[in-house]
Amino acid sequence: MNELPLPVDHECLICYLYRMGGQFPCEQSLRFVKHYRDTRVPRATALERKVQMLGGYCDCEVLMNAVRPASLEAARLLDAGDDILCHGVRRGSIQPCDQWMMRRGVQWGGGQFRRRSA
Ligand SMILES: [Zn+2]
Ligand SMILES: [Zn+2]
Repeated sequence: MNELPLPVDHECLICYLYRMGGQFPCEQSLRFVKHYRDTRVPRATALERKVQMLGGYCDCEVLMNAVRPASLEAARLLDAGDDILCHGVRRGSIQPCDQWMMRRGVQWGGGQFRRRSA
């Protein structure tokens, strides 16, 4: 299966995962994380390790465990399974757009990953 849809321009990783999750069953793998990385941010070689540290061991778990909706509106759309319009990120970024917030005080900025101990 190498015909996976591409991220659209400036679509962030999380919106991409959300969009793909609505079209494809999760295969208990990070195939869409990898596809996003390979097509968008090939230098982010640690991306899979990062999302696993956030509790994302497959594509749907990244959505469930690494982020939460940043607004009530986004949460409503998520609950309803409706489309969430990506607010966009600059090319080469692995950060979510401002529709999403990282969970648990995890910071995931500027290509650097660190976790607060508290
Ligand atoms: Zn899954
Ligand atoms: Zn987005």
